[in-house]
Amino acid sequence: MILVEEAIKILRKVPAKPEIEEVSISLALNRILGQDIVSKIDMPPFNKSAMDGYAFHSSDSSDEFQIVEVISAGIVPTKKIQKGQCVKIMTGGIVPSGANRVIKKEVTVEEEGFMRIVGEDKNFNICYQGEDVKIGDVVMKKGVIIRPQEIGVIASMGMASLKVYKRPEVGIIATGSELVEPGNPLQQGQIYNSNAFSLAAQVIQSGTLVKSRETVLDTKKEIRRAIEKSLDACDMVIISGGVSAGEFDYVPNILKELGVQLHFEKIAIIPGKPTVFGTRGENIVFGVPGNPVSSFVIFEIFIKPFLFKMMGHNFHPKTIKGVMKEKFHRQKIERSAYIPIRYQEGFVELLTYHGSAHINALSQANGLISVARGVKEIPAGSTVNVRPIQ
Ligand code: AMP
Ligand code: MG
Repeated sequence: MILVEEAIKILRKVPAKPEIEEVSISLALNRILGQDIVSKIDMPPFNKSAMDGYAFHSSDSSDEFQIVEVISAGIVPTKKIQKGQCVKIMTGGIVPSGANRVIKKEVTVEEEGFMRIVGEDKNFNICYQGEDVKIGDVVMKKGVIIRPQEIGVIASMGMASLKVYKRPEVGIIATGSELVEPGNPLQQGQIYNSNAFSLAAQVIQSGTLVKSRETVLDTKKEIRRAIEKSLDACDMVIISGGVSAGEFDYVPNILKELGVQLHFEKIAIIPGKPTVFGTRGENIVFGVPGNPVSSFVIFEIFIKPFLFKMMGHNFHPKTIKGVMKEKFHRQKIERSAYIPIRYQEGFVELLTYHGSAHINALSQANGLISVARGVKEIPAGSTVNVRPIQ
């Protein structure tokens, strides 16, 4: 059995070779950027009016200004502004040469082709060429997750497509002779296969792809066949169940027989102790315990960061500080624990949680707190790190 920190270290050491593909900006949301974005233009590309108003020279103290042109957004000025002149300009219009100030419409009056200033506007109301971004500026580094605002920036640079990292293809295998697919009646002793679906949802939520999903009986032959097929077709295989110490927990041995090198088979974590991690060439294999909370937590803590690594992104879980509303207490302390909690307005509330089979507790939860190995109690009022779960 290895410590959580050791497992994370082992996972970090395994290299990943993220590959690149080109996608249109309309399909880039939630992908990982595979290139630096270097601006080919100044932003704004010209001195731009920030207001609807009149543009003139700030040193001109004439009583009234002759309006020589109307400049709306997209129109190129044709006249140079002289003393006693101005242009009527709209927000987004090019400030003409000879003018260096825009006065907002609200403090002016216009009569028979002339403008008079009747109020005060201290601002120059010009967005200057290149004040946001200059040609050659690196506006985004590869490895970032592309959010709507990144899409906006990339589009504003005039790029119609961009390089992103390819999404790993994941195969999910649920093992268990007791498993029934949702939608079918349940016989005595059977349970519904929930892990295959929650794991698939976690894979998709991480921005990666589910290539195949299969449910197999607890026979060596079936499990072996499914793993072999999935190893051939997918970048990563996640196997649920069959990794503990039971009579029919064949997964670790089958993996070894198939040439998968196992890097660990047990972690000092609760839930999720019998977690298996292996590699075969560039194939990645995780075996997670069948209890639904274990499978969920192991994905969050170990598999998700690995999937992001396969896409060139250095994943760091977000944490929020929260104050324990009540004390947490446990008897056994030899494993690090992850406990589903409810975080609200800075406080951490414990939930009714019966252990790793209690998937409904996860649905009530919006975060996990970790309890370090050796720690028996977290007192009420103490501050803890909450790892939000979506
Ligand atoms: P195992 O890890 O195979 O020993 O399974 C541990 C527990 O998780 C058992 O109670 C199983 O019935 C349950 N379990 C196994 N696989 C699944 C699954 N795909 N969905 C829901 N529960 C499961
Ligand atoms: Mg089983």
